[in-house]
Amino acid sequence: MATPKYATPDTPPPEAILIATLADGTKVKQRVARMRACNEKDEKAKMCAGHLKRWYFFGDEVKAKFGAQAEIYRCEKCRTLYVPNPEEESRTGTLSW
Ligand SMILES: [Zn+2]
Repeated sequence: MATPKYATPDTPPPEAILIATLADGTKVKQRVARMRACNEKDEKAKMCAGHLKRWYFFGDEVKAKFGAQAEIYRCEKCRTLYVPNPEEESRTGTLSW
């Protein structure tokens, strides 16, 4: 009897979803849970892999879209913005400041 094989080993990893593009062309994506590095790709399909850092200096456009208290992360390399994944609520209710 043949051992059942799992479909394909090359299932793509979950991708952050592009949810908005700001007027200046900055992309805003929603993170995959526990995501720490940017998955934005350049023209040569090379992964950016920049570190995502909490970012507080967003402008009015981001505030209008996501709220003045929005939790925003920014890639330190390509400056793509990320918002948290709604499934990712590890910080039980308490704000970080
Ligand atoms: Zn990046």
